[in-house]
Amino acid sequence: MSASAGAIFITGATSGIGAACARRFAGDGRPLILLGRRAERLDALSEALDVPVHALPLDIRDRPALEAAVRSLPDPFAAVDVLVNNAGITVGFGPPHEADPDDWDVVVDTNIKGVLYCTRAVLPGMVERGCGHIVTIGSPAARHPFPDANVYAGTKAFVRQLSSNLRADLHGTDIRITLIEPGRTRTEVFDVRFGGDKARAAEMFEDTVPMEPEDVAEAVHWVTAMPARVNIDRVEMMPVAQTFSPLPVLAKRKGA
Ligand code: NDP
Repeated sequence: MSASAGAIFITGATSGIGAACARRFAGDGRPLILLGRRAERLDALSEALDVPVHALPLDIRDRPALEAAVRSLPDPFAAVDVLVNNAGITVGFGPPHEADPDDWDVVVDTNIKGVLYCTRAVLPGMVERGCGHIVTIGSPAARHPFPDANVYAGTKAFVRQLSSNLRADLHGTDIRITLIEPGRTRTEVFDVRFGGDKARAAEMFEDTVPMEPEDVAEAVHWVTAMPARVNIDRVEMMPVAQTFSPLPVLAKRKGA
């Protein structure tokens, strides 16, 4: 864990990887700031965790609301030691010439601008205190062209490069920057992508053994638990059952 004992700020904590991160970090007894749009889920998670929790039920795309919320964090949450830029989304499915540009707006605004807004909101405090760690959840789709991942993959390529550039720009500040790129993980990501069609979402985990959200949370926790002198730049982790080849997915889509 980093030298100081400030708060852990996890975005997208209402589900999947973010909720698993909240449970993992709660084991350390650290104060948690948990962000997501579904307030009732934040409440339920907060009640289940035996640590101080500050819930931020807001949309990460709402920059003024986000900035105001971070500016007015009370003690013991005011000093953010770790930001887990986890909130992300993919909506719509299909080739780019059939896509709805409104879906692209949602994906770009959430996965790119949301990460930028959160990072910008916490960085001044980290720089002032001379410590902090920004962990961003990317995707192997940033580098391997999975079918139908077009704009989502582009947003993950953005955060990959952003992490590298943050690392370069923050050299000399002792702030750590890590990108974690998990392969297929059993979360609600496909429920959202297919507009709540749970049967179709379940197909994405058929005949395979995906990772569980706890597996990714363990990696997030591990990078922050390294000695403060160590920066893990990037972690790419896949289920054993997944390789980089997009062909099986493509064959399935075409009914082959
Ligand atoms: P989930 O759909 O289970 O969780 C997504 C989380 O993001 C939810 O808590 C959701 O909260 C939050 N979120 C989405 N949009 C917004 C928004 N506008 N404002 C605030 N919060 C938002 O998916 P995962 O846990 O799988 O996704 C977590 C991260 O992991 C994402 O960045 C995703 O791209 C990445 N990832 C996932 C993979 C997988 O196979 N599952 C593989 C590679 C990367 P709420 O709806 O309450 O706002």
